[in-house]
Amino acid sequence: MSVTEIQRGVHRIGAKYGEGLFVFLYVVKGDRLALIDTGTVQHPQAFIQPALAQLGMALSDVDLILNTHAHFDHVGGNLEVKRASDARIYVHSGDAAQAGSIEAQVEYMTAPLRALGLPDAAVRQRADFVRAMAGEAAGADVMISEGDAVDLGGGITLKAIHTPGHTPGCISYYWESEGVLFSGDAIQGLGGTPGDTPYYFDACSYRRTLSTVLELKPHILCTGHAYFMRGYPTEPTLRGADAKAFLDGAVELADTIHRAVEAAVSRMPRAAKGDIALEAMWELAYRYPLRLMRETRLPRSAGPTLLTHIEAVLAGSYPA
Ligand SMILES: [Zn+2]
Repeated sequence: MSVTEIQRGVHRIGAKYGEGLFVFLYVVKGDRLALIDTGTVQHPQAFIQPALAQLGMALSDVDLILNTHAHFDHVGGNLEVKRASDARIYVHSGDAAQAGSIEAQVEYMTAPLRALGLPDAAVRQRADFVRAMAGEAAGADVMISEGDAVDLGGGITLKAIHTPGHTPGCISYYWESEGVLFSGDAIQGLGGTPGDTPYYFDACSYRRTLSTVLELKPHILCTGHAYFMRGYPTEPTLRGADAKAFLDGAVELADTIHRAVEAAVSRMPRAAKGDIALEAMWELAYRYPLRLMRETRLPRSAGPTLLTHIEAVLAGSYPA
C-alpha cells in the first residue's frame, strides 16, 4: 500500500488488483473529506482504510465519494465506503446506468468486442473479470454536471469538468486555484499495462476532451492509472512540463490510431470491422511496443478503441 502526498490537502493511494494492474485513488481533505474514486470491491478494506488510518482518519470520516466515472475499478468500493460513512456518491448522468448496475458495466465493456466479432471466450473472460472486481452497484446520490462546484471548505473547491470519451459520463475534478486536475481515465497514454493501447469508447469525444484539458493547462495532472507511454509507465501524478508532454503524447496517439484506421478502411472499405481492426493493428504494431493477446490478436484494451475509430472514419466525424 502506498500513500503519497501530492499537495496540501491531497494524498494519493495506489491500489493493486488483478494481475499487475494498479488504480490510483485520491483523498482530498478540506473541512469535508472527499474520496476521488473507491477502486474495486476489495479496495476499501485492503487499501483505503489503511491509507486513511495512516493519515489519522477512518472510512467513517468520508463525506463525499466523487467518481471520475462508473467503471468497476473506480466505483467498486462505493458501497462499502458508503456503508461505513454514509458518504454521498457523485456521478455524471452519462454514467448513471453503469453506476446503478454491474451488468450495465459488463454490457458497456463487452458490446464492442461482440461488434468486432471477437471470440466468445474473450468476451466471457472480460465479463467475468468485471464481475469479480465490481462487487454490488451502489448507484448515485448526486448527478454532477459540467461546471458544478464542490466546495470542501478549507479553501478547496473542485470544479466538475465533463471529459467524455472513455465513458459518456467521465468527470474530471479541477482544483482551479492550485491547477490540480483529477482526470481519472479521461486521458490515457498507451493503456495501463505494458503493450496495450488507450481504452476509450467514443473517439470523437475523447479527442475533444484532450483539447479541453490542453486548454486548461493543469499544473498537476492526477490520473487514475500509471499510463504507459512508449514502453514506460508514466507517473500517475504529472507536473508542469511532464503533464503537457503526457497530454501532447495522448493527442499524437489518438491521431495516429485514427490515421492507421483510416488507411485500413481505405484499403478494405467493404471488410468486416473486425478485419479492419486487425489491418490497422499491423500499422500500429510497428510504431508502438504493442503486445497482442493470443485469443484476439489485438492488445488487451484495443477492441473498443479501434471500433470507435472505425465508426468515426465511416461517419467522417473525427475532429481534425
Ligand atoms: Zn475506466
